[in-house]
Amino acid sequence: MPAVTRKCIVQSCTNNSKDNPTKIFLTVPKDENRRNDWIRALNLIKITDNGRYTVCEDHFDLEKDSTNWMFYKIMGKKLMLKSDVVPHKNLEIATTTIGSQLTDSEKKT
Ligand SMILES: [Zn+2]
Repeated sequence: MPAVTRKCIVQSCTNNSKDNPTKIFLTVPKDENRRNDWIRALNLIKITDNGRYTVCEDHFDLEKDSTNWMFYKIMGKKLMLKSDVVPHKNLEIATTTIGSQLTDSEKKT
């Protein structure tokens, strides 16, 4: 598999899989309706093509937003989002706020 760097498409977010290898990156749904929901939620005007886009875990509450969080954590299964979930956290354009939310997953070694 070629090493593709995944980038978060949220405008105010700079996470990518190279700088943040422990972060989870979720693929924007291929289904057109779901994809449009995501685009609206993210305030993105253009994702017009069918390319592969990802949003990082910072914009979800994955423990609640996924259907199999425990399986994912314990057994390393592919994480499945609930069918009506869209990115909903940390979506504002960052202007003056810093370090609003720290989670366990951000602890560095
Ligand atoms: Zn992000």
